[in-house]
Amino acid sequence: MEFKIRAEEIRNELVRKVEELSGQNVFACYQCGKCSSGCPSVPYMELLPNQVLRLLQFGKVERILQSNTHWICASCFVCTTRCPKDIDIAAIMEALRQLDLRKNRDYLKIPEIDGEEMAKFPPIALVSAFRKLTA
Ligand code: SF4
Ligand code: SF4
Repeated sequence: MEFKIRAEEIRNELVRKVEELSGQNVFACYQCGKCSSGCPSVPYMELLPNQVLRLLQFGKVERILQSNTHWICASCFVCTTRCPKDIDIAAIMEALRQLDLRKNRDYLKIPEIDGEEMAKFPPIALVSAFRKLTA
């Protein structure tokens, strides 16, 4: 009984929002690390995918949002296919991006991109980046 009360306190409003947006139960994760060991973006992430899940279990959503992890995530779904608990980690990363984007927090600052640099990228890459990384 005491454990149930504590769990509900930890599953705070932001954690519930992530679960609602992603359709996932973050407390199903048992920290096996298979998501992180298969993720191709890990070298560039400040937090590993399994660490994101662990912080969610502690209610530390703002700590996750301070990191670059949910932005660096390439939505490749490798983590999702590897999770033995059938957690869609890619959907959780998308939910975290949504939390930021709904506050108009852009990851990509378009006015700061050098025009000559921008001209080197394929238009489809730019359109994808603008759609994913800006509000
Ligand atoms: S693979 Fe699934 S259960 Fe394992 S650490 Fe990642 S999210 Fe948790
Ligand atoms: S969907 Fe994101 S977190 Fe999952 S393996 Fe791909 S890059 Fe890593």
